[in-house]
Amino acid sequence: MPQESEHIKCLIIGSGPAGYTAAIYAARADLKPVLYTGIVPGGQLTQTTEVENFPGYPDGVQGPEMMEDFRKQAERFGTDIRFGYITSVDFSGDVHKVVVDGERTLTADTVIIATGATAKWLGLESEQKYNGFGVSACAVCDGFFFKGQDIAIVGAGDTAAEEATYLAKLASKVHMLVRRDEFRASKAMQHRVLNTPNIVIHYNTETKEIVGDGQNVTGVLVYNNQTLEESVLPVTGFFVAIGHKPNTELFHGILDMDANGYLITKPDSTRTNIEGVFACGDVQDHIYRQAVTAAGTGCMAALEAERYLAAKEYTIA
Ligand code: NDP
Repeated sequence: MPQESEHIKCLIIGSGPAGYTAAIYAARADLKPVLYTGIVPGGQLTQTTEVENFPGYPDGVQGPEMMEDFRKQAERFGTDIRFGYITSVDFSGDVHKVVVDGERTLTADTVIIATGATAKWLGLESEQKYNGFGVSACAVCDGFFFKGQDIAIVGAGDTAAEEATYLAKLASKVHMLVRRDEFRASKAMQHRVLNTPNIVIHYNTETKEIVGDGQNVTGVLVYNNQTLEESVLPVTGFFVAIGHKPNTELFHGILDMDANGYLITKPDSTRTNIEGVFACGDVQDHIYRQAVTAAGTGCMAALEAERYLAAKEYTIA
C-alpha cells in the first residue's frame, strides 16, 4: 500500500549554523519545523577546531561543541531533527514536494534551504586514488594520523592557514603549497603561519601529482610555476584546503543560481525565485561565509517563512 505522504509547515534542509538558527526561530514561532541534517550533521563547523569569532563565546569554542549547542537549542523549542538526505525536490506546485533518502515523499508549505558548501578538490586522479590513504580535505578529522610525520597542505586562504597551524602541532614539518607569491588569508592568519617554525612555505608552487606506493602517500610532485622546476617533497599526508563549492546540485534548473552555483536570493531577503522557498547560509553567500552571518540569514529565513505563511493564511481565510 502506498505510504501517505507527511505534510510539514516548515521544512529545513541542512544542519549548520543557518539551518539550526532557522529552526530555533521557526520553532519559537510555532511553525513546527522539521529539520533534515544531511550527511554531515552540524555541517562544516564540525570539521574545524577553535572558533574565536562567534559572539557569545568569550574564550572561544570548538566547532563541533558549538554545533551541539545549536542543535540542543533548536531541539529545546521542539524542532523535529531527523538524520536524512533530501534526494530530489519538486517546487512546481503550490505545495512543495521533497523526497527523503530516495524513498519517502514529504510535502511542505515552506522550505528553508541551508545546505551549505563542501570542500573543493584539486581534481587529480592520484588525489582520489589516495583519498583516505594519506589524502584528506579535513585536517581536524585526519591530522592525528600524521603525528610526528612530514605532510603537505595546498591552499593559501584562511582555511589553509588555520589547518596548517593546526597540523603543525601534530606533524614534524608542514609544507604549505601556495600557488601565487602571496596569501589570500587574512593578515592575522598569515601572521600565525609565518610564526610557526615547522611550516615551510613554498610560493608559486603547484601540485602535479600525489606520489604513492600503491597503498599510501609517500610524496608529492610539485612544480614552481615560474621556473617550471619540479621536485618531490617526501610526505605521508596531503591536505587539500582550497575552498568550497555550494551544495546546490538538487536545485539546478529549479532555483536561480549564479555561475558558481550559489543560490540567488532577493536583495535584503532570503527569498528565492520560488514562493515559499528560502535560502540561507553559505549556500547563498559567497562573500562573508561566516558562522555568524549564516546564523543571521537563518534567522531571516525563518522570519520570512513565518510572514509568508501568515499572509497565505490571511488570503485563504
Ligand atoms: P578561499 O576561497 O578564501 O581560499 C582558497 C585558497 O585556495 C586560495 O588561496 C586559492 O589560491 C587556493 N586555491 C584554489 N584552487 C587552487 C588550486 N587548484 N591549487 C592551488 N591552490 C588553490 O577559501 P577558504 O576555504 O580558505 O575560506 C573561505 C571563507 O571562509 C573565507 O571568506 C575565509 O575568510 C573564511 N574562513 C574564516 C576562518 C576564520 O575566520 N577562522 C577560517 C576559515 C575560513 P588563490 O589565492 O591563488 O586564489
